[in-house]
Amino acid sequence: MKRRDIVKVLGLGVAAAGLAACTEEKETVAADCAQPAAGAMPDKPETVEWKMVTAWPKNFPVLGTGANELAELIGQMSGGRIKVKVYGANELVGALEIFDAVSRGTAEMGHGASYYWKGKTRAAQFFSAVPFGLTAQEMNAWLYQGGGMELWEEVYAEFNLIPGAAGNTGVQMGGWFNREINNVEDLKGLKMRIPGLGGEVLKRAGGTPVLLSGGEIFSSLQSGAIDATEWVGPYNDLAFGLHKATKFYYYPGWHEPGTAQECFINKDAFEKLPADLQLIVRSALRIANQNMLADFTAKNNQALQQLVNDEGVQLRQFPDDVLKELRSLSAEVVAEEAAKDPLSQKVYDSFVKFREESIKWHAISEQAYLNARSM
Ligand code: CA
Repeated sequence: MKRRDIVKVLGLGVAAAGLAACTEEKETVAADCAQPAAGAMPDKPETVEWKMVTAWPKNFPVLGTGANELAELIGQMSGGRIKVKVYGANELVGALEIFDAVSRGTAEMGHGASYYWKGKTRAAQFFSAVPFGLTAQEMNAWLYQGGGMELWEEVYAEFNLIPGAAGNTGVQMGGWFNREINNVEDLKGLKMRIPGLGGEVLKRAGGTPVLLSGGEIFSSLQSGAIDATEWVGPYNDLAFGLHKATKFYYYPGWHEPGTAQECFINKDAFEKLPADLQLIVRSALRIANQNMLADFTAKNNQALQQLVNDEGVQLRQFPDDVLKELRSLSAEVVAEEAAKDPLSQKVYDSFVKFREESIKWHAISEQAYLNARSM
């Protein structure tokens, strides 16, 4: 818990104690008790009605349903004092309009992924996914205990938004390819749907990143308009039917090693909440963040078996020299991107320092154990 959250809880405690004292001693301290202390709960708690706009189609597996679950959780944890109505993409505003909509207060909450807002603030990209960046576990550690959350708040402050992590995909898959990738040369001329920093890395490797909306991916892959596409992981990819367009399924998802989803909140709306409801919203986000990773992990396990055993998908690992080349190019691309403005550089410096420390610790913990388990 953050220090200021604890302060808020303590603040509420003091106010509540004051109110109790007033009830018992109202004859003698009537003047002090005429007005409830600031932050005290009124006799009949008001119900707050919020809108949550999302970047996902309504009920989209895991991402959209994760947004629904977060809204339900806030309702339940607050005893119905906050009601959050969830809107799918284009129901209230378009998927890529949610940031502005919440910033200006058209809706109080937005559920998306921070790399969508690169055009508004480049530094946002570091809070979703960075090629060869942090895993889900590391991302949460950086955000909650490594200074990442404070930086994210700094980046979103000028947009009147309070950010929060609201889920994580875990390590994504490398994608679907219509041919095998046996060496670095095979990346040259490769037309792949791969957004964001990963796309920039592919371009530097000689490939051609292609931007396509979700609806165009399957037909483009099937027709040969593109040679490859990445999407998410086995569960979402299976639901999308990508195995029907091509069979080579590559891993690991070097470009999205633990993509954080976000839920940002209009700052004015958040600050109007009493302290206990603020804490409930923050706590619900923590729970939703953990639940989504668990959901993805469990469902990906099952979906992968189905893809391989029932659908004839051919799993392939990227060759070592291909991954080494992509890693080296990623370091260049990300450092250059960070150098484009001071705030991005500040976030990058924190991110890279945390990543270096994680590499050392995880080499002898997670990585060593996973290797041992597979021997
Ligand atoms: Ca992806």
